[in-house]
Amino acid sequence: MLNILFIADAVGSPGRDVVTKLLPDLRRRHDLGLVICNAENSAAGFGCTKESAHDLFRAGVDVLTGGNHIWDRRESLSYLADERRLVRPANLPAGTPGQGWAAFTAADDTPVGVVNLIGRVGMKEADCPFRAADAAIAALRDRCRVIFIDFHAETTAEKVALGWYVDGRASVVVGTHTHVPTADQRVLPGGTAFVCDAGMTGGWDSVIGMDREAAMRRFLTLMPERLKPAEGDPRLNAILVSVEPSTGRAVSIRRLDLPLAGSAPSGGARLLRGDAPAAAVMERTRAQVAGLRAAGVQPVLALVSVGDDPASKIYLRKKDAAATEAGIEVTKVQLPAGSTTAEVVARVTQLGADPAVHGILVQLPLAAPADDRAVLEAIPPAKDVDGFHPVNAGRLAQGLPAIAPCTPAGVVELLRFHGVPLAGRRAVVLGRSNIVGRPLATLLSQKDVNMTVTLGHSGSGTVLPEIAREADLLVAAIGRPEMITDMWVKPGATVVDVGIHRVPVDTPGPDGKATRITGDVHAPSVSRVAGALTPVPGGVGPMTVALVIANTARAAAQQSGVPAAVR
Ligand code: NAP
Repeated sequence: MLNILFIADAVGSPGRDVVTKLLPDLRRRHDLGLVICNAENSAAGFGCTKESAHDLFRAGVDVLTGGNHIWDRRESLSYLADERRLVRPANLPAGTPGQGWAAFTAADDTPVGVVNLIGRVGMKEADCPFRAADAAIAALRDRCRVIFIDFHAETTAEKVALGWYVDGRASVVVGTHTHVPTADQRVLPGGTAFVCDAGMTGGWDSVIGMDREAAMRRFLTLMPERLKPAEGDPRLNAILVSVEPSTGRAVSIRRLDLPLAGSAPSGGARLLRGDAPAAAVMERTRAQVAGLRAAGVQPVLALVSVGDDPASKIYLRKKDAAATEAGIEVTKVQLPAGSTTAEVVARVTQLGADPAVHGILVQLPLAAPADDRAVLEAIPPAKDVDGFHPVNAGRLAQGLPAIAPCTPAGVVELLRFHGVPLAGRRAVVLGRSNIVGRPLATLLSQKDVNMTVTLGHSGSGTVLPEIAREADLLVAAIGRPEMITDMWVKPGATVVDVGIHRVPVDTPGPDGKATRITGDVHAPSVSRVAGALTPVPGGVGPMTVALVIANTARAAAQQSGVPAAVR
């Protein structure tokens, strides 16, 4: 599969700077075969110069495309005419300097035709972009099965129409120009990946990339004003498309919106945060719960606790709030410390028999003398939203439909959300507990993920760091604060930190606390060598909560027989 990254209009030096900082990691993580970037605003927001183009080439861009502003720098006309890695709009009068399309070679040797067009609606006069697309495709077809079109146009309708017009003849049509990303990306029936606008790369605290104060004054006074690129909240917008090289058909299209802040921590590893993927899981779950409620089913989650463990109280509060947010009703069952195993089992059995309750979560640890294992096994497997029951564990191990434990399922979801390549790569999972390490190793080795997995534990001996250094994906779930240092990590690997610990600090922080939260990973050293790292807090934690809620909605759907509307 050929992965092509298209970087939305890079605006001025803030845009070029984001590309320089984020592209090397994107190249590594997405196995990119070709990187294309729209550069018509790359020189101080207007036009493209030799210097701005070379900045982008140095950052790792292979091909530049243009638009109506590409000629804004008169001094650069001869450069633009001669630069073979730049494609300017094709539908311009004969004699316009430069090339409107060209064939390039991707990293896997696939020839890729790149075409640039501008729209006619609300733009300057140009030839018909539809006929220009026909001419470009006809000229490239003999050499290139994969054809990429950057359609630089003002109106949605013109862009959508061009997408349909070339469906099945071009691999990708990406709209540019408005600088506002649209959420309509899809692969059309003929195999053309389409999105109306890719957005922009540069300062997002702006009016489409330019200083917002000056832009507002222009609207208020209607007087001319010099605009300069904005610097606040620099972000990279891009479109990632996978294309089958032998047919030229696109198989997937994704939008990327990557803030520089939080993406490139001091050490250079990209931060894989859990909040956005958790929000996506919650969004899907809310829709599923709404469908269930419309069908007359009110999902109910029972949260069972025994005793007053302070950490458990925090976790229960988070799960309660998330369930309520998704439209799930919560029944709290708080048993006093000292409850016997028989008493807790009896209460859980009662909840298991209650048809109004769809999910049961027993918050661990239980206060003594109640026995975790006996209590967990009293939950009917269909209501076991934590996925800890031996029946669910066994079904998961056999690759059968099962409720998977939330933390491991959340890790897989997080990695998928951030586009971390998994299939065919090597994973090392450190820790073999039944709630994290072992089920995660199972999930990563299943056919829909296809990683080659090694499971490390306290009996692995001194070879473990060496084994860990072979991993493309290293997961730390050992419950040992900051034990995993850079010595355990292969350069460029993705590291997932499942651990969560509160450790003492010498000097209290601004919040006055003499402790701080950390993980199993020593983030300062690991972020210097890893390609990507989940933060603690804010990484795996939010995923665990979201997956509890998703599992409850799924359990309610299965028990009530209402088909899962959204999965
Ligand atoms: P656990 O039950 O204590 O299991 C720890 C595992 O790590 C065991 O398999 C143990 O091996 C292994 N281990 C311990 N020391 C080791 C060493 N020096 N070298 C190699 N392996 C070692 O812990 P857990 O419940 O899986 O949790 C792991 C961590 O994740 C904890 O910090 C926990 O707080 C955190 N956690 C976070 C979330 C979340 O939502 N973020 C959820 C669950 C857990 P043996 O089997 O040989 O003893």
